[in-house]
Amino acid sequence: MIKTDILIIGAGPTGLFAVFEAGLLKLKCHLIDALPQAGGQCAEIYPKKPIYDIPGFPEILAGDLVNNLMEQIKSFQPGFTLGERAETIKKLDDGTFVVTTNKGTEHHAPIVAIAGGLGSFEPRKPLLDNLSKYEDNGVAYMIKDPEVYRNKRVVIAGGGDSALDWSIFLADIASEVTLIHRRNEFRGALDSVEKVQELKNQGKLNLITPAEIIGLNGENKLESVLVRKISEAKEEMFLEVDHFIPLFGLSPKLGPIGDWGLEIEKNAIKVDTFDYQTNIPGIYAIGDVNTYPGKLKLILCGFHEATLMCQSAFQKIHPDKKYVMKYTTVGGVSGFDGTKKEAPKAVVKKIE
Ligand SMILES: Cc1cc2nc3c(=O)[nH]c(=O)nc-3n(C[C@H](O)[C@H](O)[C@H](O)COP(=O)(O)OP(=O)(O)OC[C@H]3O[C@@H](n4cnc5c(N)ncnc54)[C@H](O)[C@@H]3O)c2cc1C
Repeated sequence: MIKTDILIIGAGPTGLFAVFEAGLLKLKCHLIDALPQAGGQCAEIYPKKPIYDIPGFPEILAGDLVNNLMEQIKSFQPGFTLGERAETIKKLDDGTFVVTTNKGTEHHAPIVAIAGGLGSFEPRKPLLDNLSKYEDNGVAYMIKDPEVYRNKRVVIAGGGDSALDWSIFLADIASEVTLIHRRNEFRGALDSVEKVQELKNQGKLNLITPAEIIGLNGENKLESVLVRKISEAKEEMFLEVDHFIPLFGLSPKLGPIGDWGLEIEKNAIKVDTFDYQTNIPGIYAIGDVNTYPGKLKLILCGFHEATLMCQSAFQKIHPDKKYVMKYTTVGGVSGFDGTKKEAPKAVVKKIE
């Protein structure tokens, strides 16, 4: 049985940063993730996409953010159970928990922090007869490496931020990008909609609306899609393509965590914003997986929630100890292996 202080379910950015904050308080963490690698959505859905709202980083690729987080927590030596889904939880008489995965691995901890994000990644798929024939053979539901699409003909379908953002991003990489949406209006950010329109006017992107894909064709791999305009004439056209990427979003599924007796609202776990604890004392929920009035599903909000969660967990694990907050700039960062990173020297600039 794996034993730790804080058992974190989900190794996305929130779970990873929780390891750092816990480490500062000398609490050891172990993370479970259903995916074979750490990084959550950043690693699985958009590793090569730049993020612009991480404080201190004007621009950082999602994959690089994950690498940096892994580097930041290295000295705290967290444990990982990867490629296994947390399935059941049992509260023992002493108030501690045993969490067992689908592969039977048992984890024991006094604190459980659920950082499960969207839960299991289930893409919403278009209803097309022979779709499965082309999955990973021309059809993909998320873009992991944009380089796959270099100099290729790509059709993207969807009307949200992902469809807009990737159409804009791939316009510079693919030989041809066509964006198809069932409506003339998009649900995404206004500036993305404007950018798509601009690219269309410059001839760098084809936009077909309102329209839908009604057929896929090709011998061994995808060779063309059949598009039907949503109009009275119901005009149809074949588009020769190498890739079809329907970006209809991920249907959020909490999975087995939904049966743990936690208070759930719209597929998210309700928490108290004092310390992000759930209705079960000792079980916290941080990051995209939780909900409270004013909740925003942003990485920086997950970081904040992880920080406050760790303070509360510390008090639960050490009710007799008084917590004194120290800035990392003052104390440096000591890992569990005893390595100590010195606090960077203050640089004082003289203002002329
Ligand atoms: C295309 C796209 C662009 C985005 N752009 C931005 C942006 O610019 N800025 C921003 O702040 N945010 C952005 N986001 C949102 C951001 O990625 C999320 O807010 C963030 O990933 C949430 O982190 P998390 O750690 O809470 O959850 P996640 O990243 O979702 O990680 C949760 C992890 O938990 C695991 N898990 C779930 N259930 C279980 C279980 N039962 N057992 C084991 N493992 C489990 C999952 O496998 C997953 O790895 C974007 C999202 C997308 C999809």
